[in-house]
Amino acid sequence: MSVLFKNRKVQWFVVMLLAAGTVLLSENLLPSASKLAVPVVSKDEKSAPAPDMQPADSGKPLEKQAPTALSYRIAEYHMSVTYTPETRQLNGQQTLTWENPGTVPVQELYLHLYPNAFASKKTTFMRESGGKLREDEAKADSSGSMKLLSVKTVDGEDLTMRMAFVQPDDGNKDDQTLLKIPLPKPVGAGEQVTIKTEFLVKLPSAFARMGYVDDFVMAGQWFPKVAAYERVGTRGRTEPGWNLHQYHGNSEFYADFGMYDVKIQVPANYIVAATGFPVKPAVTDNGMKTYQFYADDVHDFAWSASPHFVYVEEPYSTAQIPGVKIKLYLDPNHQDLKDRYMYAAKKALSRYSQWYGPYPYSTLSIVVPPPGGNGVGGMEYPTLVTSWDASDKKPDLELERVVVHEIGHQFFYGMVASNEFEEAWLDEGFTSYAEDKVMESEYGVSPNLPVESSFITSPHTLNQNSWAYAGHDQYAENVYTRGKLVLKAIEKQVGTKTMDKIMRTYFLRWEFKHPSTKDFQNVVEEVTKTKWDDFFNQYVYGAMMMDYTVESIRVKSVGSKGAESYESTVLISKKGGNSPEVPIQFHFSDGTVLDKTWDGKESSIEFKLTHKTPVDWVRIDPNYSLVLENKHINNFMQTQVDTKWKIRWNLGIIQFLQAIFGWVAW
Ligand SMILES: [Zn+2]
Repeated sequence: MSVLFKNRKVQWFVVMLLAAGTVLLSENLLPSASKLAVPVVSKDEKSAPAPDMQPADSGKPLEKQAPTALSYRIAEYHMSVTYTPETRQLNGQQTLTWENPGTVPVQELYLHLYPNAFASKKTTFMRESGGKLREDEAKADSSGSMKLLSVKTVDGEDLTMRMAFVQPDDGNKDDQTLLKIPLPKPVGAGEQVTIKTEFLVKLPSAFARMGYVDDFVMAGQWFPKVAAYERVGTRGRTEPGWNLHQYHGNSEFYADFGMYDVKIQVPANYIVAATGFPVKPAVTDNGMKTYQFYADDVHDFAWSASPHFVYVEEPYSTAQIPGVKIKLYLDPNHQDLKDRYMYAAKKALSRYSQWYGPYPYSTLSIVVPPPGGNGVGGMEYPTLVTSWDASDKKPDLELERVVVHEIGHQFFYGMVASNEFEEAWLDEGFTSYAEDKVMESEYGVSPNLPVESSFITSPHTLNQNSWAYAGHDQYAENVYTRGKLVLKAIEKQVGTKTMDKIMRTYFLRWEFKHPSTKDFQNVVEEVTKTKWDDFFNQYVYGAMMMDYTVESIRVKSVGSKGAESYESTVLISKKGGNSPEVPIQFHFSDGTVLDKTWDGKESSIEFKLTHKTPVDWVRIDPNYSLVLENKHINNFMQTQVDTKWKIRWNLGIIQFLQAIFGWVAW
């Protein structure tokens, strides 16, 4: 998912104003993305085939499934769903076959009934989020739900009497997002079980990733979904078992790979976007149109529909992308921006594939929701992403940034498939890191790391359940920003080339395998041939940031008349985590500059410097190379002033503003 950068920018601005006190800033001084040139692809007006007609034009499928399984396909779904716009309901049938990937018999299945997160104000999602996700607030029509109308074995045995909702995370009996279904007989290791369900979903008005806006509909988390079952060794597990969590305010998802065969029936004038590819042309009958999609080696399936989509598709391939159809489903407000979406999608796909590993799927769909649809915007699903809504007629580079971010998820959420309940930073932090690299290489926009670091005001471990963070801001600050900064800090230490190797090795080793944070640490250690326990314990498993401070500068005269000499004693201390190198710059009143590097091992260090003039200021990290240093304000001190604290404060602010406005290079 993408956080709302625009709002964060404004929020930062307010914090800066408060911090700067009397320093007045005008917002138009902030680096404006909209002023940057946007590359535009060649104007190829060749119209794409209507989406419901493909692949009939050539008589054979243009999009084929991968010849060999890329993942362990644990779940197999055959579903059929009908959308009724008048009632905002989905009626579905599902046949789910689940294979026990473990080594012990399994007595029960667990299904996520995610739409029940919106069933009342008492659900765990609503209690934790306060009915708010990002800037999107639940309204009266934001309620939604899922009912299982029938649950049977293939032999027709009714399982509804056995099943019960469970709340393993918080015991909240008002939460019905996780269902336990005891089975008539256990499923042995490597054996399969099939159940058939009929379900009814009442969609909320667009909120928290799903719902409708007028006649647009986004179906995410819309079907009964089997929980993830972890084998021994997966994420450090010593015994096989379910990974069971409810739908939380701050958590996204985690599931096993599988295959999906889905029929979607909508009114005949609707166009459907979905995970995977269409297996045959849509069929119209009695005012309704039925689309059929197929996807494998994916762990979720989402779709969207609207009678107003403007459809654009282009084939795309590179050395690392065997061949993909990029499909845009644009709200008409943004149809003139199709080239920007397409360009961003191509650049993102090609860069990520080049850096990390091939994109193996035959399609990538981008849905642009209508105005008012941000509740379902900026979200990732396998082979399908949503952008921000189309309310802005002249969007700045946030348009590209969101597309680039969500396509990044195709790699870390889609293929690596991290557990976003328990280790969300492995997805959001990694995706944010990768997104910055694309924005830098393709759009020339560099992140302002000192500023981003300075907004880490509530650092927490990156290795905790998403709902253990206190609210969405703390979750986003850590999982997105601090997670990204941790990766940037590793990059600063090892160099870009080695970091690229770390990221590529991690991706290729762990795609389709659900790694843990420790698995990533192991890759870092293997590639760098160095132990990283200290770093990970402080910044990843721990909640530290760096904080080096100039404590004092004392000057005494040691020379004689005619041969003036001064001994300046500078005390530097470490209040946060370690850095193997702490650059310190000393400036003498005759203009001499002395750079030193401290290894930062002890809690403090005293420098005694003898020079013909006194030290007049000291600055730690003058080039902003310590990306985890979040308190730059105490990195600077000036000597020989009466109201030292005041000057330091003001100069600290000036340093800070320099960083913000890019007056200095780092
Ligand atoms: Zn995201």
